[in-house]
Amino acid sequence: MKRVLLKLSGEALAGEKKTGFDEATCIGVAKQVKQLVDDGVQVAIVTGGGNFWRGRTSETIDRVKADQIGMLATVMNCIYVSDIFRFAGMETEVFTPFVCGAFTTLFSKDKAVEALNQGKVVFFAGGTGHPYFSTDTGAVLRAIEIEADAMLLAKAIDGIYDSDPKVNPQAKKYNEISIQEIIDKKLMAVDLTASIMCLENKMPMLVFGLNEPNSIVETMRGTFTGTKVTV
Ligand code: UDP
Repeated sequence: MKRVLLKLSGEALAGEKKTGFDEATCIGVAKQVKQLVDDGVQVAIVTGGGNFWRGRTSETIDRVKADQIGMLATVMNCIYVSDIFRFAGMETEVFTPFVCGAFTTLFSKDKAVEALNQGKVVFFAGGTGHPYFSTDTGAVLRAIEIEADAMLLAKAIDGIYDSDPKVNPQAKKYNEISIQEIIDKKLMAVDLTASIMCLENKMPMLVFGLNEPNSIVETMRGTFTGTKVTV
């Protein structure tokens, strides 16, 4: 694989704390991504925002406003993680689908691909720019737009299970599963909108645990222990 999109859930960035940033976790991610970049892989990153805010969890304020706060949370995450990446020796650029003044670059496919070809790690912050979507959907959309070979989904959990392992200790992890089966079985490894986009546009996914040692590098080098999602 020459070009991948890595989706980091907000929760995974927070480490044990579950909220805000865990610097050691983010530095660990940066060191792994540096190895991929040094291997010549082009890497785009989408972060979630769940370590700060999720629109759907607010029952008091308007959903559109709550989602706007969620999208801004992903911008904070990308600015933070991108700077940790710079500290680790990479060049980065943060793109958003809406104007954020001098903080970010307004997204266009051409500008993003140009940055990737220059060896930069690009960050797609702000999701799709629209409410009622998730960062999973934003990640699939950008992966398709930049013609990534696959989407790598780094989660707090180490793959896709037939039921929630936190609730069911007998839950079984899939080594491989088709996106159609995920949709049919309502497994919700990624949300339905994102799943349908993967299916329609034939975007494969590799789902694995961010907290497993060296998991991003292992995933790219073939020693993969998560779930492969076929299209
Ligand atoms: N969000 C949105 N539109 C998008 C992407 C994200 O409105 O295209 C908002 C939504 O409120 C979501 C929040 O941003 O709850 C954070 O994203 P998400 O819940 O996907 O983060 P994760 O669970 O991956 O940390």
